[in-house]
Amino acid sequence: MSRIHIEAASKRFDKVTAVDQVTLDIEHGEFLVLLGPSGCGKSTLLRAIAGLTPLTEGRITLGDKDITHTPPRDRDLAMVFQSYALYPHLSVARNIGFPLRARRRPKAEIREKVEQVARTLDLSALLDRRPRELSGGQRQRVALGRALVRDPGAFLMDEPLSNLDAKLRTATRAELSELHRRLGSTFVYVTHDQVEAMTMATRIALLNGGKLEQVGSPTEVYDRPASAFVAGFLGSPAMNLLDARVVSREGRLHAVAEDVDVALDITGELSDQDSQDVVLGIRPEHLRIGGAHPGLRGVVRLVENLGSEELAHVVVGDARVCLRGSRPLDLATGDAVTLSAAPQHIHLFHRESGKRLV
Ligand code: ATP
Repeated sequence: MSRIHIEAASKRFDKVTAVDQVTLDIEHGEFLVLLGPSGCGKSTLLRAIAGLTPLTEGRITLGDKDITHTPPRDRDLAMVFQSYALYPHLSVARNIGFPLRARRRPKAEIREKVEQVARTLDLSALLDRRPRELSGGQRQRVALGRALVRDPGAFLMDEPLSNLDAKLRTATRAELSELHRRLGSTFVYVTHDQVEAMTMATRIALLNGGKLEQVGSPTEVYDRPASAFVAGFLGSPAMNLLDARVVSREGRLHAVAEDVDVALDITGELSDQDSQDVVLGIRPEHLRIGGAHPGLRGVVRLVENLGSEELAHVVVGDARVCLRGSRPLDLATGDAVTLSAAPQHIHLFHRESGKRLV
């Protein structure tokens, strides 16, 4: 039973509120990713769960046990750091076995456990080596092994892949997902990399300025972002966000901004939003050239070839939007285009609060 419950957790450092009233339940067996830009408080929250940073306010429970004031080593949680924090003078076997030796487990048990973990992580042939004799990916696996050997209630990971090159990172991402499936344990994973979050998480918790913006499955947060911040953070290139105004015309609502006029697939229910300042969001992959819906008129500024796809940057009034589609888009710099999007792919956010309206 390793459900982690975080209740109204805050952490202040002098004038900085790093974590601000976060309430979050992490269920047993989840792969929960704490995601957000640099400085949003994700490492601080993870360190608070680990017990390395005491909370200013709030409570953390693990299963039925209140661990808010429990020292890190008594929390039944294992932390994997970005730097791996391996002991350079110890062999791989002794690095992996270290937590068990610290707990004075019998030698035979330690040996057996280390061998078992080494098999799981494909490290059996490397047990006698020192960390300096390993590649980045192998070191990362040893750090994981040291966490695994303890059989903890949950694994806490702070950007464990950030020291790996792009190719190895992709491979290790898949290995971590596989390991999570095999172990069935709880993983809490910090990253600022949206691809890691989208590919590995069962749920993503998105933080902004210490506050929780949204918690949901990767599909939920991508398809129905709760705020303009989430919409702009997830997706590459980012969602196009255009300032607009909601007006009602012939019983239909339109989002209008200068030349832009998009009929919204919603009637009456939004009438209290009439004339409201909004932000209109459309993902680059949802913009079409021409199309049945009245759209955005603009001029192509640049077309980029990504290999399998192309990106077109289009100037629309004062704004720029990006369109992504399979090659060839048949567009060239200087072309006049009309872009459209199906109503179900149009997102609306309140301009001031940033909160989702539709
Ligand atoms: P990054 O991705 O850059 O690691 P993060 O989202 O993990 O960022 P945190 O490291 O949790 O962010 O930091 C959140 C805020 O708290 C930042 O403004 C940071 O400067 C501040 N902060 C973190 N640790 C301390 C500390 N020990 N003393 C003072 N301020 C701190």
